[in-house]
Amino acid sequence: MSSGIPENRYELVSGLEIHVQLNTNTKIFSADSASFGALPNQNISTVSLALPGALPKLNKEVVAKAIRIGLALNCTINQVNHFDRKNYFYADLPKGYQITQDNQPICINGHLEVELSNGSKKKIGINRIHLEEDAGKSIHDQDDHYSLVDLNRAGVPLIEIVTEPDIRSPEEASALLSEIRKLVRHLNVSDGNMEEGSLRCDANISIRENGTNAFGTRCEVKNLNSMRNVRRAMEFEFTRQIEVVSNGGSIIQSTLNFDADKGTTSPMRTKEEANDYRYFADPDLPPIHISDEWLSEIKSAMPALPNEISRQMIAEFGINKADATLFAEDIDLLNYFNQALPIVNIKKTLINWLIGPIRAVLSERGIAIADYKVKPDQLAIAINLVDEKKITQQIAIQQLLPAIEETDNADVMGLAKQLNLLITENSNELDGFIDEVLNKYPQQVEAYKKGKKGVLGLFVGDVMKLAKGKADAKKLNELILEKLK
Ligand code: ADP
Ligand code: MG
Repeated sequence: MSSGIPENRYELVSGLEIHVQLNTNTKIFSADSASFGALPNQNISTVSLALPGALPKLNKEVVAKAIRIGLALNCTINQVNHFDRKNYFYADLPKGYQITQDNQPICINGHLEVELSNGSKKKIGINRIHLEEDAGKSIHDQDDHYSLVDLNRAGVPLIEIVTEPDIRSPEEASALLSEIRKLVRHLNVSDGNMEEGSLRCDANISIRENGTNAFGTRCEVKNLNSMRNVRRAMEFEFTRQIEVVSNGGSIIQSTLNFDADKGTTSPMRTKEEANDYRYFADPDLPPIHISDEWLSEIKSAMPALPNEISRQMIAEFGINKADATLFAEDIDLLNYFNQALPIVNIKKTLINWLIGPIRAVLSERGIAIADYKVKPDQLAIAINLVDEKKITQQIAIQQLLPAIEETDNADVMGLAKQLNLLITENSNELDGFIDEVLNKYPQQVEAYKKGKKGVLGLFVGDVMKLAKGKADAKKLNELILEKLK
């Protein structure tokens, strides 16, 4: 520090406001498609355009998804809650207000426990989760004279998760974000993609002297769109605020932008310049009533959460934590596993395949399990063929699975037969190969009979070659031993 004040005199205090774009088919208050990537102004109707008289109608799925994430974050669900208008004027907000929730959000008082790199756990409070609509998008760089407005995003459903100011380090912030990202994906609430903006975060940051209880004045850094930028913004602000205070200045409550190129923050507006949103309950939308029945229906349909799954897999299959985590944290892999599970003979074998050869194939090609063309039931059948010694593991991996990928709706057994990949069950054929090999090596056969047991490997290897690998090594051993008696 330029002032010579040691940084460890202060601690960082932070709370995050995390916006999550929900992955519903339609928007929060209209039947317009909520999908990304359409041509500008394709996904609009009278509601998105805010034509006079157009009324919002709440999408029930949005409420269900918010409840799911609320339950996962240990929140109390407000069974009666309502929408408010947040008034401000902006070109991409044609109504002149955003429909959001102010003093009565759908979820309150939750918490989430995150694990830090040193193995310690940290519990971070969730103050509230509220429902709201996204705004449209102004485009300033496509015309020399005009700004263009695309309202496809207007009305896309968002939830805002607001944490308590419990975060004390950039690491805790990114651990929390990555845990939330994992949960929204797991619960099929959002794709959680930070790069595409489905998950974005404002970080409120203040400092206080170690050992003191009162919170300092906070600054809010807006629109952080990657884990890394969240950490960088926090580190920068921490240092900046210490410097200000150490030089006798005081922190002015303000909203800041983060410049990702420079790694610095800069002021957008101070509290004095802040908008007065004049919130009031939206008269166009009745309060949301969540019935006890519906709430318990949603509760009972909740899947086990990642940490729970990890614990279960360790207990049930005796795998280690790292392997269990692979399944618990990759919902696509977990779904694949669960679909294959009822079909495989030995469940542990399925795990071994997925974290062994299948994972290797995927990472070699740089694709995700969701893009793997061998479907779960097909893989399960192939694994069973190996277990039942109808095909060798090597041929299954190197020939059968690639063939399945190239065939639409392949019948696995049919394909294996058609390609002549099955282990030769025909003992006559194997007998023939064995005779051929033993005849080829009369001296070695003699040597074997005199006790030089090591040559057996030579015979097995050669017979295997003649059988093009399609023989069960153990059975082959037995057949050869029989012949040599
Ligand atoms: P407002 O409603 O005025 O935006 P909130 O009290 O809801 O303020 O807080 C918004 C966010 O700021 C929350 O995530 C909260 O944890 C965080 N926060 C509040 N006070 C502080 C502080 N002194 N330092 C850091 N973060 C804070
Ligand atoms: Mg706020």
